[in-house]
Amino acid sequence: MIYEQKAVLSSYVIINQAMDFPFGVTFYPDQWPKEYWETAFSQIAESGFNLVRFGEMAWNWIEPREGDFKFEDLDKALELADKYGLKVLLGIPTSMAPPWLVRKHPDTRPVSNQGTLYPEYGPRPNICRDSGTYKKYAERMIRKLVDRYKGHPAVRYWQIDNEPVYPPLDSTTNEDFCHCPDTRAAFVLWALKKYGSLEKINEVWGAKFWTNEFGELEDITTPKTGLWDAGNPHIFLDWYRFKTDSLKAFLEWEKDLVLEYDKSRKIGTNGFLGICPRVPDHDRLAEKMDWYGWDIYPMGGKNSPQQIGEMADWWRSFSSHRKTEFHVTELQGGPNVRWGYPGYIEGPEIRTWTHQIVAHGAKSILYHQWRTAIFGGEAGGFGILNADGSRTKRLEAIEKAGQEIKKAVQTLHAHELKPKAAVAYLRSSDIQTYQEQGPPRAIAGQWEQVRADLGHTHGLDSCQGAHQVLWNYYNPAAFVFERHLEDGELPYKVLLVPNPYLLKEDHAATLKKFVEKGGVLITESRFGAKNENAHIHQKGLLGELLNITCDHIETIGDRIAIPKIRCYAYGFRDLISGADEVLMEYEDGYPAFIEKKIGRGRVLYATFSLFMSIGKIGNSRLASYVRRHLPLPEFFLKDKDSIEMVLWEGSDTPILYVINHSPKKEKFEIDVPEKYLKAEDALTDKGFEIEKGKLPITIAGRGVLVLHLS
Ligand SMILES: [Zn+2]
Repeated sequence: MIYEQKAVLSSYVIINQAMDFPFGVTFYPDQWPKEYWETAFSQIAESGFNLVRFGEMAWNWIEPREGDFKFEDLDKALELADKYGLKVLLGIPTSMAPPWLVRKHPDTRPVSNQGTLYPEYGPRPNICRDSGTYKKYAERMIRKLVDRYKGHPAVRYWQIDNEPVYPPLDSTTNEDFCHCPDTRAAFVLWALKKYGSLEKINEVWGAKFWTNEFGELEDITTPKTGLWDAGNPHIFLDWYRFKTDSLKAFLEWEKDLVLEYDKSRKIGTNGFLGICPRVPDHDRLAEKMDWYGWDIYPMGGKNSPQQIGEMADWWRSFSSHRKTEFHVTELQGGPNVRWGYPGYIEGPEIRTWTHQIVAHGAKSILYHQWRTAIFGGEAGGFGILNADGSRTKRLEAIEKAGQEIKKAVQTLHAHELKPKAAVAYLRSSDIQTYQEQGPPRAIAGQWEQVRADLGHTHGLDSCQGAHQVLWNYYNPAAFVFERHLEDGELPYKVLLVPNPYLLKEDHAATLKKFVEKGGVLITESRFGAKNENAHIHQKGLLGELLNITCDHIETIGDRIAIPKIRCYAYGFRDLISGADEVLMEYEDGYPAFIEKKIGRGRVLYATFSLFMSIGKIGNSRLASYVRRHLPLPEFFLKDKDSIEMVLWEGSDTPILYVINHSPKKEKFEIDVPEKYLKAEDALTDKGFEIEKGKLPITIAGRGVLVLHLS
């Protein structure tokens, strides 16, 4: 069926304005014939959307030749959006320079560690954001664009750049970027500012090793190898810190330019979760943004409900203790092409993704994208509508989700997510593990056989394992970052610290204090083996925490059995002596799990890479074992993998957001405190009786309940 217009203009303008939750789609007018624009905007509004995103990759659309700005088309697109009551998230297209700029200034292109230039067009970003020449052109374009639309009634948000990362966006090459002269100069300045003198730089970077000491600032270059090639681990660590700081400064420069003209609209940018060599530290980038957008393709990533929930928890946590809003800038609206798993998306799964993301605290949702692209690198993909513009079950599901989340958001309005458990992501440890272990390598020498598989994704695999322990036990969970260890803010009952390889003494002290005050700390192999600059802690920090000695840290070649729970350990292993509270041993007799009470709390220590063994290897028996060491949650749904329950808290009346991720009908009970007697579903007004703390639920396949307890 070809899409038919069903409503009259005035009625849906009113409906959409009533729903303030930003709910929209990407639609790129510059990629469609002008005759289609009005149809598109009217149908978008009619489907219940109130926001459209475009412009973020369209520099050439507004400046087709150097200095020759043409805004007629953008004027028309904004006018049409406004006519149909739609607000616009307008992109500032700095992530990809037009061919005229690259032709005139080829030195703006990113340079890899091997000296190759990134392609002129195709993958992005095709320019180095440290290039002064590029920034001059970007600034002129930003000023023209923002000055023109600063007062436009349709513009609701500004998006600066798009997915600011260093190339490459995927892992098909192991090249590192950017090593151009501008970036090198910025790196040297950054180091000098951080350390104050060349002498200090040499000391922190351990430059005495193999005659690397720098005599002049001119001697410093960007690091071009990892440890597998005898690269310098300390410079490498600072190199990644610099890259984040540099991108953060770029985004804030761009934001400040917008603010010169427009102080009333919220400004942000977007990104996706990825391994440390490919993406910057999102927690740092998000700091000064009014909103920070998450781009999520659950089918493309073959993500389980736990993984989607985990990523949502990451994203929400980037805003914790900040004013930054958690937005979703791209939620997969149709099947993947080009990258990712290309599985078909019928429709109903998008509805449950939408609920899950709202349940985890998102303050807006935009789907990608309105209609299947008919040309370009993503032709045939991602469309909610078919390529011919006809309706799909995907659109039906999204329209339904839009109606439902409107009710859900109204119900959740006076409630909040208050995670009781958190996972610490230690980015310095992640970078260092990657630097030491390196990317996957094709040549399997003895050295590579042991190591090559570990480093690339060790940090994220470990976080996933930790989140898996908490999944549906403490939901939502929070992520905490180095800044939280710095300021000592850990308001949780339970803290999981995966990959605790690099720790400042102060950070270890914060963790110990957390335990003394009654917290449960679960952590693993290599605890505080190195300091924040990746120098060995000569005494190690494990002794201070657990009063034991780590005699050696080894890389487990294959795997090693823990017979008592019929599990295997993978990754790294501490060979421990002097522990008196050993819960479990390996087959060779070394301690595998140690427990220790400190003050009012306790520590569970795994002497191997526990969380990676759960997250990457998928050892659910290990996850259950760890869960037995957690305090029981107040609201408890036992062992139902396809069902998710997220707790929202109010002054006295909690809400349980319950989602059935499977297409099968399910029956189960939720344990709740005995003072609650009834629950009412905000979506259907249906009531449920609670008897002696047991809330019995029957839920349809892909069903959703927003249960308000009283
Ligand atoms: Zn560069």
